[in-house]
Amino acid sequence: MNPDFTICIPIVAATLEEAIRDIEKARTYTDLVELRLDHFDNINPGKLQTLLAHCKRAIVTCRSPQQGGKIAISDEKQFQLLTAAIDLKAAYIDIEYNSKNLPALLPRCKKTRAIVSYHNFEQTPSLNELQTIYKTIDSQRPQLVKIVTRANSINDCFTIFELLRWKKNLVAFCMGLNGEISRILAPKYGSRLTFAGLTDDKTSAPGQIDIHQMQTVYRVPKINADTKCIGVIGEYAEHSRSKYLHNPLFELHKLNYVFLPFRVAASELAEFLQNFRKFDFWGAAVTIPHKIAIMPYLDDIDETAHSIGAVNTVLNFNGQLMGCNTDRTGAMHALKQHCNLDGTRILVLGAGGATRAILYGLKNEDVRVTVVNRTEAKARELAGEYAFDWGNSADLARLIREHDIIINTTSVGMHPFVDDSPIGASGLEPGKVVMDIVYNPMQTRLIRDAETAGCHTITGENMLIYQAIQQYILWTGREVDFHEMGDFFYAQAKYSP
Ligand code: NAP
Repeated sequence: MNPDFTICIPIVAATLEEAIRDIEKARTYTDLVELRLDHFDNINPGKLQTLLAHCKRAIVTCRSPQQGGKIAISDEKQFQLLTAAIDLKAAYIDIEYNSKNLPALLPRCKKTRAIVSYHNFEQTPSLNELQTIYKTIDSQRPQLVKIVTRANSINDCFTIFELLRWKKNLVAFCMGLNGEISRILAPKYGSRLTFAGLTDDKTSAPGQIDIHQMQTVYRVPKINADTKCIGVIGEYAEHSRSKYLHNPLFELHKLNYVFLPFRVAASELAEFLQNFRKFDFWGAAVTIPHKIAIMPYLDDIDETAHSIGAVNTVLNFNGQLMGCNTDRTGAMHALKQHCNLDGTRILVLGAGGATRAILYGLKNEDVRVTVVNRTEAKARELAGEYAFDWGNSADLARLIREHDIIINTTSVGMHPFVDDSPIGASGLEPGKVVMDIVYNPMQTRLIRDAETAGCHTITGENMLIYQAIQQYILWTGREVDFHEMGDFFYAQAKYSP
């Protein structure tokens, strides 16, 4: 545990009763809450005294709507409430740097410590600008300076990490979905606090993560300067299930690692990888749409990834980034655990990145493969590369009848289009094996149809878990088996029914 760091839970209740209930709940996670007085109906010093009596330690905050507050509170009322908080010996008051009341309140803070805040709800200014803002605030000698900005890109988080490395009496992180990693990694870079919602509908700022995720999934209280950062680089990385695979294993194996979502758009990839090197991140998984686009930015690419033409794993060897691909091994393990491939005819649907990895795996097996894809030219080209057959989508019904194993490698059926299937139900019959690599949801329409038809089915998380095992071994050097990782995955992943 890091003694200079605390997770604070904001209390954003409208009534005294609700707030007291929330304070009691929050206490099971942390001893520090933030009383957001601007969320209360008719708050007054008497009610504040009742609230403080229920808190072990509290930050008392009372923002105007321009400062991100909920209910309009006059300057006079703000002064009255924050003075009361000081008189009642609250642990902290938090006040915006440009508040009219700041000069009068600061000298009164003796037992109560002052946090003076700068919020920017539009953007993250440059490091230079933030340093100037810091100096302006710090010249007034508050105990803590709080700088919270909006991340319009994940790269903004690294500006905040630079700022944190520079000074010690700081609380700093970014708001918004793009700011998530700055909230999680706050203790790594020296922020004295980070904030977490009591539940996902009881948050006080955009992008705030709930306390359960912060503590149980990301293990934030255990993060420190030495924590190794790994994550999944994807445009919608926040939807990835990988955090449920790797983080619990890091805990089980007592490894000081954390697995994060790296939400990176195509236009942000180059800068993100510069930051990745500069901040010495340990490794990454790579997902849509970066598996091919990332290749030119890497220093080395292993033979498998080179042959497949796509990278799904990155290792950082002292600033030298190496690309690998574990999808082939993952897919082949998933298939071979469920069926004997020898002499079988396999129909592969799709001609995307994942298809390439699977065809590369199948090329060394005693199998006959036919590739079919919506864009026929891609099926023809890819099949040609591996000396396999290709087929026409119009002949799908016949092709299904003629093949023993059908593997869907397209994204059809993936959330939110969960009722779509890459094939109709006709032609599916007992004895056939149907594998879907889509894992969100696990029970895709294709899998449901195949089960109804009496086929043997292999759901997408099988490949996901097997390929993640290979990644885990690459990043940590620790062996792990399917059940060790799979049990955590099935227990923790919050699948929609
Ligand atoms: P990709 O490179 O973008 O390829 C997508 C493929 O799906 C292409 O063949 C594309 O056909 C086809 N497709 C997309 N929409 C379609 C539609 N409406 N009708 C017919 N075909 C359609 O994506 P990827 O990286 O290969 O990933 C594909 C899927 O596999 C995703 O769901 C991904 O989550 C999953 N995946 C799972 C694992 C695992 O471990 N289980 C690993 C990797 C990927 P066109 O060529 O005609 O566009």
